[in-house]
Amino acid sequence: MTSPEFLAASNRLTIDLSALADNWRTMNELSGKARAAAVLKANAYGVGVTEAAHTLYAAGARDFFVASVEEGAELRPFIPDARIYILAGMWPGNEELFFAYDLVPIVNSEEQLAVFMAALSERGEYPCVLHVDTGMNRLGLSFEEALALASDPARPASFSPVLVMSHLACGDDPMHPMNVYQLERFRAVTAAFEDIPASLANSGGVLLGNDYHFDLTRPGIAVYGGEAVIGAANPMKPVVTAEARVLQVRTVPAGGTASYGASVQFTRDSRIATVAIGYADGYHRSLSGGGVMLRQARPSGAQGFLHGRLVPHVGRVTMDLSLFDVTDLPEQAVRAGDYIELFGRNVAIDDVARAGGTIGYELLTSLGRRYCRNYVGGV
Ligand SMILES: *Cc1c(COP(=O)(O)O)cnc(C)c1O
Repeated sequence: MTSPEFLAASNRLTIDLSALADNWRTMNELSGKARAAAVLKANAYGVGVTEAAHTLYAAGARDFFVASVEEGAELRPFIPDARIYILAGMWPGNEELFFAYDLVPIVNSEEQLAVFMAALSERGEYPCVLHVDTGMNRLGLSFEEALALASDPARPASFSPVLVMSHLACGDDPMHPMNVYQLERFRAVTAAFEDIPASLANSGGVLLGNDYHFDLTRPGIAVYGGEAVIGAANPMKPVVTAEARVLQVRTVPAGGTASYGASVQFTRDSRIATVAIGYADGYHRSLSGGGVMLRQARPSGAQGFLHGRLVPHVGRVTMDLSLFDVTDLPEQAVRAGDYIELFGRNVAIDDVARAGGTIGYELLTSLGRRYCRNYVGGV
């Protein structure tokens, strides 16, 4: 149901849970024989962890990844019998949270392995995931450490990972030689831990094909409707539509300027819509109108969608307000109170992100607190 608050909101998000479920099912099908997990870190990529958890569980997901043990504790009540994996892993002082909320730590280093084994000695057998670095150089036991561990006769019997995983550095770039390199290294790791299920692919990795799927895939951004492969058509359904109100429409004669720094000068008589959206809402300053100087950078500028047309941002994005040039729309078309789409159904989030030198992931996870959220659809 659309609430009165939503109908009156200055900034609003429509979150399409049917699209979310469909996108997950698509990634699950594309994963072939492997099963797809759901990645719910950072408040489910900004979408809202409660709703995303219910929806993706109902769609069939039973494996959920989050970044921190705190995120895992928050998620647990929504999906009581699903497996929740904690990407950051365990460290001294947070062991009890894992046991209390039945969370599976990902072991990312020799140090974390020691912390986990020490916790086990007090508690007895407990699942974990072994993360092995195959080229990302971010987290994970090194390739050599992993192989040594596999063949270590002193390896405790109680150490029995439920999954061995690695993460692709270039999954969004199918032709990158790093993909094949990491795949070969990961195959050597899975051969050393032969009875343990394996997981390598993020969204981009799912689209790299069967070789990359192993037993469990971990699609994130594609499920939220973002681009998983750079420079390719995005087959996913948009999940999030962000809109903001036009507060005022004003006319500026040719030669006039607007915004901080008088950063835009108009070459024709212009009509400018002042919109209630700013960088405090996660509409980043780097989305400022094309050619506007921001320190050293000169972004290409975002576009919004209003009354069936793309309209360019002009001047600088400020904390709470942005300007869009609506001169090309019919004279009386734009009125105070209209909503402009910032990204979503009509303006691809990744196009907006590119205009601001960033990625859809960052726009989603930056969505500010001033948005009123409306969840539509479902499984
Ligand atoms: C975030 C994350 C994913 C999901 O990646 P996408 O690119 O959003 O599909 C998968 N695996 C790990 C380890 C991650 O941190």
